[in-house]
Amino acid sequence: MSQADIQTIRLSNGKDAKVHTQLFINNEFVAGHGPLIETINPANEEVICKVHSADENDVNLAVESAYKCYYETWRKVAPAERGRLIHKLADLMERDKDELAMLDAVDNGKAFAVARDVDVTESIGCYRYFAGWADKIHGKTIDTTFDKVCYTRHEALGVVGAVIPWNYPTMMAAWKFAPALATGNTIVMKSSEVTPLSTLKFGELVKEAGFPAGCVNIITGYGHTTGNYLSGHPKISKMAFTGSTVTGRKIMESSAHSNLKKLQLELGGKSAQIVCADADLESAAVWACGGIFNNHGQSCNAGSRIFVDEKVHDKFLELFIAETKKIVIGDPFNEDTFQGPQINKSQFDKILNYVKIGQEEGAVLAYGGKRWGDKGYYIEPTIFTHCKNSNRIMREEIFGPFVSIGTFKTIEEAIDLANDSDYGLAGGVYTSDLDTSIKVTNELQAGTVWVNCYDVFDQSTPFGGYKQSGFGKELGKYALHEYTQVKVVKIQRLSKI
Ligand code: NAD
Repeated sequence: MSQADIQTIRLSNGKDAKVHTQLFINNEFVAGHGPLIETINPANEEVICKVHSADENDVNLAVESAYKCYYETWRKVAPAERGRLIHKLADLMERDKDELAMLDAVDNGKAFAVARDVDVTESIGCYRYFAGWADKIHGKTIDTTFDKVCYTRHEALGVVGAVIPWNYPTMMAAWKFAPALATGNTIVMKSSEVTPLSTLKFGELVKEAGFPAGCVNIITGYGHTTGNYLSGHPKISKMAFTGSTVTGRKIMESSAHSNLKKLQLELGGKSAQIVCADADLESAAVWACGGIFNNHGQSCNAGSRIFVDEKVHDKFLELFIAETKKIVIGDPFNEDTFQGPQINKSQFDKILNYVKIGQEEGAVLAYGGKRWGDKGYYIEPTIFTHCKNSNRIMREEIFGPFVSIGTFKTIEEAIDLANDSDYGLAGGVYTSDLDTSIKVTNELQAGTVWVNCYDVFDQSTPFGGYKQSGFGKELGKYALHEYTQVKVVKIQRLSKI
């Protein structure tokens, strides 16, 4: 660790934290040659520190180091040993849990308690889950003719390139590092330029865990430069991307123009929650409120459209607003804070602009809609009612604490309204009728549908979108297929049979 790499920052809880500011390539922190990038604390709008970024040559160095490690070392490491190393990494994360959570809290603005108990805790679970898979990946033997032996091998792809967003820095990294490494790939990851700190800290843990040099490389930088060099690199076999649909298209183009690399795209959403008249409305209000306002509405799967049976609209709204009023907004380092600031000024402006758009479109602002406090990018949880599917606030991803509520008369109408979207990431239905729940779960065009709950994740269950929310599955056994390719071997027996 060079002195130029490490900086000490002061947190609002009075504690100091050490942060890495350089790129992690070939198990060393090294200077980048792109522009220095300021990372901002969204709770007070102040610069936390400046972080190095990777230019094209730095991206090349990172990819070459991953490529060399894959061919010379990592693909010869026994699967059980891969699993042991990933478990070791999870142990180190457990040890440094508070530190990782502090970095996400200061860099992203999410509540420290949530970062610790959800983001970092579930990320550790993700590493352990995939560590367990490392030595259980195998092909099949297939009987063809008597004089031949045929089998399949599930082989690693080589070097995986990963690009992640800012909304769950530690967790989005885990969802890609863990399956990529368990299946025997090496990896170059670009963190979001907005939240690089926890991902860089991860480099320190990778080295301490004993991974071979080049197995894990972490770079940062802007998307149109660093991200673009990575996704266009001919030695990258696959791009695993999480971010907006607009960027997903660009990654698809650069893959097409380089080497037709395999792609996995986890993109945006505008997910619907359907509240039926026969639902337990009190419970529905609690789940639906978390479904949109968790992580300050900055979740790809946020249930940002709610369709309520008109017979129970008023009652549900009353319960929903009562639940929303319980949200504690404040400094991310206050232990009882649930909602911190939005990520940055441009998101803050964009969300407040949607409040104006909603009002101009004739929807009714039922709660919130303003800045909270006078410092930091805080926005009150915001509820619009009387929304129509033609409204921009019903169609566009706002990515903030902003929900658009409409009504329906029949369940068929609710399904049509929910499916009337370019996106198809997730959805939810609240009902006490089994038949209704089966009908809705079968008909919704979405990769995940929750019944009488929302935003519930497990390492063992896959997650990924339909339509323009992308393709490919993260988590669960399904993720293993995304990071492997199937080779067929046919052997002719030479002995006389
Ligand atoms: P974004 O698309 O702006 O950026 C995501 C990442 O892509 C960043 O690291 C960025 O630097 C990089 N990037 C930008 N342009 C690039 C390019 N041309 N080539 C390569 N990389 C490039 O998204 P964001 O604002 O960071 O995150 C919010 C978006 O992410 C929302 O749309 C949200 O729905 C989506 N998201 C989806 C999921 C999911 O699982 N489906 C999860 C989290 C977030």
